[in-house]
Amino acid sequence: MKDTKMIHIKNGDDLNVAAEILKKGGTVAFPTETVYGLGANALMEAAIDQIYVAKGRPSDNPLIVHLSSLEMMTPLVENVSEKAKKVMDVFWPGPITLILQSKGVVAPNVTAGLSTLGIRIPSHPIAKKLIELSGVPVAAPSANLSGKPSPTEGKHVVEDLTGRVDAIVIEEQSEHGLESTILDMTQEPPMLLRPGSVTREAIEAVIGSIEVDPALNKKMAADVQPKAPGMKYTHYSPDADLKIIQGPLEKVVTHIQTLVNNTKGKVGVMCCDETLKEYSAEVVLSLGKRSDLTEIASNLFKTLRKFDELGVDIVYCEGYDTLGMGQAIMNRLNKAAGYEIINL
Ligand code: AMP
Ligand code: MG
Repeated sequence: MKDTKMIHIKNGDDLNVAAEILKKGGTVAFPTETVYGLGANALMEAAIDQIYVAKGRPSDNPLIVHLSSLEMMTPLVENVSEKAKKVMDVFWPGPITLILQSKGVVAPNVTAGLSTLGIRIPSHPIAKKLIELSGVPVAAPSANLSGKPSPTEGKHVVEDLTGRVDAIVIEEQSEHGLESTILDMTQEPPMLLRPGSVTREAIEAVIGSIEVDPALNKKMAADVQPKAPGMKYTHYSPDADLKIIQGPLEKVVTHIQTLVNNTKGKVGVMCCDETLKEYSAEVVLSLGKRSDLTEIASNLFKTLRKFDELGVDIVYCEGYDTLGMGQAIMNRLNKAAGYEIINL
């Protein structure tokens, strides 16, 4: 057990303490604009090992390296294309990770043996400041135990990682609530490996058409391997059994209510503000307004955790259209549901 230092920004605790821990090879969880990250010095193999141990993360699942400036990127990667530069120019700092050719400078366990490296400059002021103060590239996956939904609030990190990491920097809720978009820039056309709040449509408006990893919205068969190794793990999942019902909204509502009526145990419904009043079930939680997918996305993971806190056995969830942010929302929902979806 580690003696985890809690650093509360609101109470005026010093971020330098966390930066010092990072620099010296410790592990620090911190807020970003996507979800909370669990960081370690990307140049130190032993530090990176501690991330995998703390999360119980499979060692074949590489980590994204977080930087506070473009200058920090130069020693780490090569063959950065004009298109990649355009994406950086428009979306960085922000919630998109680019896969680039690695120079092999980061510790080998950061990339899990791959010749490529995932890089991102976060826009969250605490994340940026922390990386800047530490002066090193910071590898940071989401700060949850492997298999749990990604943490969007400090209390989720405290729940999952107290005693397992050296420090937790606690601030407010993350802004986007979904992990970063991942775009592979080592191929032409570039390929979307994970949808996120920077949407396919927004990327294509900047660099023209991109491909989407065909493995993205399918349950992994042995013969289709996703290009982002982490995407093959289906369990982003809550403890409750999750089932998605997709189709015209009115039909979905009727079907879910019928399912609820015929299901034993503690039954939950995950809906939207527009349909909240139409359900009668033991636990009914809304993700927000369906007309605002950004709100739905930012509430997704904390709502999944909420169902678990309430000891719900099975959750029926409304589906979303896969345009814009809907693509990222349905990708996370599908993973959480183990691709159990009823199409009406
Ligand atoms: P997390 O930070 O927990 O959201 O996980 C990082 C995601 O990025 C995982 O799905 C990884 O498989 C993916 N990833 C990291 N580095 C690479 C890389 N070099 N190539 C492809 N995917 C990567
Ligand atoms: Mg993760």
